[in-house]
Amino acid sequence: MQLVDYPWLIKPKNHIGKNLPPALLIHGIEGIGKQVLANYLAQSTLCEKTSFISDPCGQCPSCDLFTAGTHPDFNLVTNDEEDAFSSEGTSSASKKAKQVISVKSVRSLGTFCVTKPHRGHAKVIVINPAENLNQSASNALLKNVEEPAEFLHFILIAKHKETLIPTLISRCLKLHVRPPEAPEASSWVMAKMKTQLEDPYRKQLAINLSGNAPLASLKLMENHDFFDAREKIILLLSQNPIDIFALAALCEKLEASTLQQVFYALLHDLMFSDIKENTVFHEDKKTEIRQIKRSLTTKAFSRWQGIFNDYLKSANHPLNRRLALEALFLKWPQT
Ligand SMILES: [Zn+2]
Repeated sequence: MQLVDYPWLIKPKNHIGKNLPPALLIHGIEGIGKQVLANYLAQSTLCEKTSFISDPCGQCPSCDLFTAGTHPDFNLVTNDEEDAFSSEGTSSASKKAKQVISVKSVRSLGTFCVTKPHRGHAKVIVINPAENLNQSASNALLKNVEEPAEFLHFILIAKHKETLIPTLISRCLKLHVRPPEAPEASSWVMAKMKTQLEDPYRKQLAINLSGNAPLASLKLMENHDFFDAREKIILLLSQNPIDIFALAALCEKLEASTLQQVFYALLHDLMFSDIKENTVFHEDKKTEIRQIKRSLTTKAFSRWQGIFNDYLKSANHPLNRRLALEALFLKWPQT
């Protein structure tokens, strides 16, 4: 792979220097390309033709193994899997990801950390998302990071570095990947789009909603379910009176992360759109925003945001999601 395909990653890459340090922490917002950069650094370090961090050759046996996902000196540690149907589930289809990296996963790295590289001179372990390391997993990892073999490199990936334990952070070279400016994100996304865009607002909206993170923008732009949900929620909220039960029934079918994205953007524009009704996330929905806003105050929406945040804390495991959503929308600001 070539980093020129991801131009905003070049600067952070240069910040690392010639060689990968024993421990690197890459942090930055969702969809900014942290895993892309980690893969690049790992492949480059393992490549048999390059001796410094630079574009891997893509042709040597090491690069072939890396691209095939079978390099014996590379290890990606990610969220644990759990059986969806308790211990009876045996097929891989019955396993789903748990939002945690357990001490068991970290301990399973034991032999990998101490045995010499199969090929060449280096081994690379990537941990993503490092914020999902629980306390005991963090402590187990710390032991490995504190006294690594000279061939071993750790790359930790996190959205917010503050979520990691301080002793672990202090062992890492920290690399903050920042998003490009909106025009750069926009042209990158346009070049990568597979389908023609029917809705002229969608691209800008996706970029704004993703905080200019190019990979997240691209993913969102092609996420028709998100735009469909947004459309329906805005339509229901712009009615007077609002059909709370229809709204709850609709939202029950959506992922909590989709709800969060739709409502955070909506609340932002309801609270902060200016006197000329310039919005950040709803340039295509100005009439509806006006209808939803009515004569309600910023304070009323801000209060509901607090209630919504409380709902989100338990959104993935409420006893009765429909009831929780109905209760939530019954508290929607009224004139
Ligand atoms: Zn190579």
